[in-house]
Amino acid sequence: MSVALAELIRENQPCVVLTGAGVSTESGVPDFRSPTGIWAQFDPREYATLGAFRRDPAKVWRFYAPRFAMLTEAEPNAAHRALAELERLGLVRAVVTQNIDLLHERAGSQDVVEVHGSIRTSSCPGCSASYALAEVVPLIEAGEGAPRCPACTEILKPDVVFFDELLPADAIDRAYELAEQARLLLVVGSSLEVYPVAELPRTTLDAGGKVAVVNRTPTWVDGRAALRLDGSAAEVLDAALAALTSRRTPVEVVDYDREWPRRYEEEAARVRAALGESVVEIEHMGSTAVPGLASKPVIDISAGLRSLELDEAQIAAMEAQGYEYLGEFGLPGRLYFRKGAGPRTHHVHAVEWGGEHWHRHRAFREYLCSHPEEAAEYAAEKRRIAAEADGLEEYWERKQPFVDELFARAWRWYGHGYA
Ligand code: NAD
Repeated sequence: MSVALAELIRENQPCVVLTGAGVSTESGVPDFRSPTGIWAQFDPREYATLGAFRRDPAKVWRFYAPRFAMLTEAEPNAAHRALAELERLGLVRAVVTQNIDLLHERAGSQDVVEVHGSIRTSSCPGCSASYALAEVVPLIEAGEGAPRCPACTEILKPDVVFFDELLPADAIDRAYELAEQARLLLVVGSSLEVYPVAELPRTTLDAGGKVAVVNRTPTWVDGRAALRLDGSAAEVLDAALAALTSRRTPVEVVDYDREWPRRYEEEAARVRAALGESVVEIEHMGSTAVPGLASKPVIDISAGLRSLELDEAQIAAMEAQGYEYLGEFGLPGRLYFRKGAGPRTHHVHAVEWGGEHWHRHRAFREYLCSHPEEAAEYAAEKRRIAAEADGLEEYWERKQPFVDELFARAWRWYGHGYA
């Protein structure tokens, strides 16, 4: 399924990522709403509010102090690292995060929009002084859990957005702008229950973009998501990154080349000379024999033999022409030769003249030559699969169902027209 996510990311750019607490649970940071989450112990709405802070800042720090300690020790996990790498590769434009833990930044993400603030700084409500995390941590200890401003002794407030606070305008405006531009909004590890961030997927959908969700539990947008994966954020994103960066062995499919018939004629003369009297008839076959059909640039030759046998001298003569002999090579009733150092240039299929293989080759070629619209459709299918397949084997495998159907039509038609 991560391959499906990789495809969505590749095909829908720009991709913007929206993360929640679930992207950090695999770094040992509990989320809010999972059974082992923070809500199992505390109701953050009672602790993480401006009202609560004004009434009793020390109580709010009883909630935050252990979290500060934990967050400074947590390390980014594979999900954070994969997102940073996808950004570096140009496949993720930005990460909009509800998290305050700085783990995206520490993993190397450059464009991180923190819509709920962060633990990066804490400010003094009395004198507005701002203190960096490294300064605040010892103040927490010195203040027995509640850090006091060294300048005016007021209890500092972490620069995270409390439940009853407005979101930083710049960050939320940017988040909406990104969601609107996104062709894909990828939600990772968020219950989408905290507003207004939970509305970002709607913005993307309304603007015609797609949404994908990687989350352990359901979210409101699942029914409208192009893809929903219930899995570990670290595993899913790591696998999607691997699928996006695996070094593909490209398959070359090129436009029809008017030189192909000439190349066939020249080669056919050499093959006829090498196989001698056994050859009844020789023909150009396969995709390079169909004008207008895109193809791998390999000339296929069908050599119709009086009977399906070749002696050592004939094989040696073919080898002298640069061919490798592979015998039946998985297809009974055919003797197969191929030529070309590195990329193949020619294949020769020696078959019994007038036998089934001989006619199958002809049926395919003749059908496509007289049905250019089907040839065009086949060419488009080849190109699509070649663009995605990792190597020839996958290309053949993925093309096969289409070819089987096409051939069935060709065989029926050929039966009526020729047999
Ligand atoms: P949430 O707790 O409401 O939801 C987290 C979601 O992540 C859950 O639906 C859960 O099923 C899923 N999840 C947990 N672990 C996962 C994993 N390994 N892989 C995939 N999915 C996983 O969190 P939220 O939606 O971010 O909203 C809660 C608020 O909590 C936010 O405002 C955020 O600021 C704050 N918060 C932040 C942190 C942090 O900074 N790390 C931690 C807890 C809460």
